[in-house]
Amino acid sequence: MTLKRLDLRGHQGPFADVLPRPGDAGADVREAVAEIIGRVRADGDAALRDLTARFDRAAVDDLRVPDAEVQAAFGRVSPALREALEVAWRRVYDYHAHEGAVLPGRGPDDFVDGGVRVRHLPRAVERAGCYAPGGRARYPSTVLMCAAPARVAGVGQVVLCVPPAADGRIDDATLAAAAVAGVDEVYRVGGAQAIAAMAYGTESVAPVDVVVGPGNRYVAEAKRQVSGAVGVASAFAGPSEVVVVADPSTPAALAAVDLVVQAEHGPDGLAWLVTWSEEKADEVEAEVAALVAASPRRADLEATLAGGGYSCLVDGPEAALAVSNVVAPEHLELLFDGGEELLPLVTAAGAVFCGPWSPASLGDYLAGPNHVLPTNRTARFASALRTDDFRRHIHAVTATRQAVDQLGPHVVTLAETEGLPAHALSLSLRLAMPPEPAGAAPTEDPAGPGSTEEAPVSLRPDLVALAGYHSPQVPAAVRLNTNESPFAPPESWREELESSLEHVDFNRYPDREAVDLRQALAESYGVGADEVFCANGSDEVLQCLLLAFGGPGRRAVVFEPTYKLHSHIARITGTEVVVAERGPDFTVDPDAAVAVLEEAQPAIVFLCSPNNPTGRSEPAELVRRVVEVAPGLVVVDEAYGQFSPRSGLDLRSDPDLDTSRLAVVRTFSKTWAMAASRLGYLVADRSVVAGCEVVALPYHLSAPTQLAGLTALKYRPEMERRVAVVAEERGRLQAALADLPVDMWPSDANFILFRPRDREAKEVWQAVLDRGVLIRDCSGWDRLDGCLRVTVGTPAENLRFLTALKEALWKEAR
Ligand code: PMP
Repeated sequence: MTLKRLDLRGHQGPFADVLPRPGDAGADVREAVAEIIGRVRADGDAALRDLTARFDRAAVDDLRVPDAEVQAAFGRVSPALREALEVAWRRVYDYHAHEGAVLPGRGPDDFVDGGVRVRHLPRAVERAGCYAPGGRARYPSTVLMCAAPARVAGVGQVVLCVPPAADGRIDDATLAAAAVAGVDEVYRVGGAQAIAAMAYGTESVAPVDVVVGPGNRYVAEAKRQVSGAVGVASAFAGPSEVVVVADPSTPAALAAVDLVVQAEHGPDGLAWLVTWSEEKADEVEAEVAALVAASPRRADLEATLAGGGYSCLVDGPEAALAVSNVVAPEHLELLFDGGEELLPLVTAAGAVFCGPWSPASLGDYLAGPNHVLPTNRTARFASALRTDDFRRHIHAVTATRQAVDQLGPHVVTLAETEGLPAHALSLSLRLAMPPEPAGAAPTEDPAGPGSTEEAPVSLRPDLVALAGYHSPQVPAAVRLNTNESPFAPPESWREELESSLEHVDFNRYPDREAVDLRQALAESYGVGADEVFCANGSDEVLQCLLLAFGGPGRRAVVFEPTYKLHSHIARITGTEVVVAERGPDFTVDPDAAVAVLEEAQPAIVFLCSPNNPTGRSEPAELVRRVVEVAPGLVVVDEAYGQFSPRSGLDLRSDPDLDTSRLAVVRTFSKTWAMAASRLGYLVADRSVVAGCEVVALPYHLSAPTQLAGLTALKYRPEMERRVAVVAEERGRLQAALADLPVDMWPSDANFILFRPRDREAKEVWQAVLDRGVLIRDCSGWDRLDGCLRVTVGTPAENLRFLTALKEALWKEAR
């Protein structure tokens, strides 16, 4: 027996027509499974014991395996299997930690682990089928809601099925929506027959890959039955549901109407009021009664409310959300100011609407997110219709020879344990192959730092060991990982910038010297314009300084742990890095610093004040000593300088100190809330500025960047107010962290470094991220074992972070 040959050479048409198709489970299997499921539902454990005796010939009393037995088994298996299990677990866990930390749809970036590279390939389905209910009703909004995520995902063809009216027509509103959404084909077929047609195809309807959209019970059951043959997203078929959470301030009339809105959709719906104010409950109940009495659909409303209308009194907000999470409603309204602050407590709901201005009806039509939502408690596991329902995620694995040498034996062990000899052989054959010929491209870590695999040109040897410096860009609802301002710049700044952009001659290079911007900055610091240099972010300022004053044969001193780019750029520019240590409290001992400087005789010394990531400002005394002793340039990186009570610039007015070698670097990225503009600057002696100008590229600062900075300088008071708000929030965060099992370092910046006590930092980081909050994992950095860093956010963001952290610490503690 060997393979069946298919010779498709020269075949032009669709291959689907000539290739064999996978088989179906078969009617007998379907029936057998239906019977088993029915028995388990009806008889529970008794059915399980009975079926186990029948199929596995095993008599089991206690269905659950005791925990001790699980642990004991680990001790009994061979050391080789134990190791293979642990290696496999670590690698699979790490990959999923990487994959799970990114936005569905965009997916993870490449992942490289010990010579195995995993690429991620998102692919839209070819053809999607949307179902919109019709007949007497019409739902053009559903057409938009189904087609939009399909289009965004990149689906090739979008088709629509709608039940026709008795005259065979589809109403104009639905067809108009199909036109707006660019639906490719519309069919006048509804009900279960529409779902069957889209799943399996007929003469008129070509089959699709995914079926979406709401429908009645028959439509939902049809979707369930075709699932597997076709992808079925969001098979929700429940009547409408709402939980309205009201506090004493909630306008009773709004609560009442939002409850009645959902009841209006038809029988069997749910309309729950949950409140901790008995008075409010009385008011809302009275309002609902009045609305129902006055409604032309009184009978329908009464029928719905009789079955599913509740007014539930609880002790407070936590209990209200606990109740709502059990109901797991399609819509949840937190109908009072500050409703958003309860979001961390929401664990099950299709969609949440916060505050008095956000009725669910807004979401039904045009808030943006989908109105195809989980009903009937399916919000426990399901989500609104989304782009990912129209995509697949394919991973592509490329391993190296070295990876196979290292990991192959574990695969052999696992495959033999599972009794799969061909699996074992596929690795042992490769393991037995002769080593790669000398001179073959190095294959360790295909995309790792400095890899030269497949590289047509060879990297500078001193860069091979380096990786680019990047904070992982992990999408998350709350991003507290890169020390940005939590606030957008003032709206008037944006408007002013936009109107000034209208006057830019975009066909011309910008002002090469950025004269206006430098002049304005110089005025604000009381220095000359020739003592100011601007670049794309303070990172580029640092790069210019190192290009001009560092370089091969010269040294830079850094006090670790500190901002990693100081040593990184130094290495890139060929500057030798001398690493001096901070003390256990992360301060620099001035005497030790002096000793290092005298020994190393560096061309550049970096201080960072407040220091990132530890948070403390460098004391003036330290900066003074360093300036006195250093033979070269002293750079004080004040990216967070506005938060600090002192600045290196204060020393410039000291008549006893020669500050001509002192450069203070600042940025618009943090307190100025302009990280997107990439603008930083330094204030220093004119000779330092002149050095930077030698190495800066011509016209390095774009006209929009210059204008952004120039305009921002008019908003200094707003900026200072933000600093005060952030400092106040920082205090609140510190107070809250002090009550948690974490160690924390003092901070003069807009971030806080802390270390979970007795907990793995990485796991805490992931658990916090799982709750939608991204912070910085510093635990892998030298000298910062177990540390995490959180940027101070808005009050709501900080609350969410604290809630997530508490849950993470609690969860880990169990
Ligand atoms: N210096 C320090 C200490 C920083 O933390 C950062 C940002 N992470 C920078 C400089 C760079 O800031 P930018 O390039 O955005 O001005």
